Amino acid sequence: MRTRNTTMTDENNAHKQPSKKRWLSLQRIGVVAMLLTSSYLAIRLSDQLAGLMKIHQISGYIQQIYLAEYPEKLLLLDGASRADVGTILRYIRDELNRPISDLKAIVVTHMHPDHAGAAHRLKKLTGAKIVSRSHHKAWYSGADGILMHLTDLFLARYMANRMGKPKRNLWYQRKLKVDHAVTEGDPVPMFEDWQVIDTPGHTDRDISVYNAKHSTVYVADLMVEVKST
Ligand SMILES: [Zn+2]
Repeated sequence: MRTRNTTMTDENNAHKQPSKKRWLSLQRIGVVAMLLTSSYLAIRLSDQLAGLMKIHQISGYIQQIYLAEYPEKLLLLDGASRADVGTILRYIRDELNRPISDLKAIVVTHMHPDHAGAAHRLKKLTGAKIVSRSHHKAWYSGADGILMHLTDLFLARYMANRMGKPKRNLWYQRKLKVDHAVTEGDPVPMFEDWQVIDTPGHTDRDISVYNAKHSTVYVADLMVEVKST
């Protein structure tokens, strides 16, 4: 394990609204939080097994992928990376024996390459709707947004190299085309058993999704593993 310490974003930090400049400077000094994080899903297995919903964990290119399966539909709990598109589609077709059109919604918790990178492509191929945080301004906007997007792509590539992964195309649009803009307390459209929770801190607009019925919360990169060197 290349990471040694695990910290959870605390409540105070979660309500700070970090500016892009601050995030950019953090990246410049090498605090590559995006690279050192891992998606996190808290779940009580007994509750999951008791219900009609089942969550599948899929090993993605540089992060884990969580797919919620229902009898008539599928929900992707985060937008994964561009390199994961084939993996997700194959999993739906070959492992679940379902048509890819069963994927009805993709939650994008935040805009980093390993959480938003596959969203547009999957939407195009499956017809799924993209669900993400309502915000008046794109995360990667303006000149510094362009630079930050490129930086995050570079960091994702760096992470993949460190993990020994073959080189894959990670490019994705820096402006997300959201079908359902949501905010704190909203149900996830078409999957009303999931509720949106605002959890800023990792970026200024992260969301988590909570399923009370199944005692399950997906917090994406809210759990941050910090490398100590
Ligand atoms: Zn992230």
